[in-house]
Amino acid sequence: MAGLDVTALLLTRGDAHYGEAVTQRDHALQCAALASRAGADDELVLAALLHDLAHLALPDGRDAPQRHHGHEGATIVRPFVPARVAWLIEHHVVAKRYLCAVDPSYAARLSAASVDSLRAQGGPLGKTELTALEAHPWFEDALRLRRWDEEAKDRDARVAPLASWVLLLEQYFGPQTTSLTRP
Ligand code: FE
Ligand code: FE
Repeated sequence: MAGLDVTALLLTRGDAHYGEAVTQRDHALQCAALASRAGADDELVLAALLHDLAHLALPDGRDAPQRHHGHEGATIVRPFVPARVAWLIEHHVVAKRYLCAVDPSYAARLSAASVDSLRAQGGPLGKTELTALEAHPWFEDALRLRRWDEEAKDRDARVAPLASWVLLLEQYFGPQTTSLTRP
């Protein structure tokens, strides 16, 4: 199967803000940096870097219901990555709905754009869904990723550039446009 040029997507389509303080590219880089700094393994760092990939790969689909972007992102990466990475991308919206249901301090810190999208995403999770998510082996990873996701919206953050993730991306997606990669 042909590869997927993730760096090209981040470079050419990562400038949109979607209501947040930072661009989608900075959001992805900050999220990956937070994961890496926390000692996350490569799969979890990769999921952090790519959790909003659907916004870049399917920019015209932005108006589709917000709840689908995790699912769409997972569908894009699934042929290339371990099942855990795709599952974490798929569930990053569900993890937000989970945290909103169980942690009022988390809900209070959501960005305005994230509060808006929560409504379209179905609001806080109900009891049955909560219990099902808690039983999943990758549940804790999903919560860690979601907390980095919320933190990765810092206008003043200085983090490692896209170039530092090219080797990791090439392990899974094949050749990346490294010549274009810049801080
Ligand atoms: Fe997202
Ligand atoms: Fe995000």
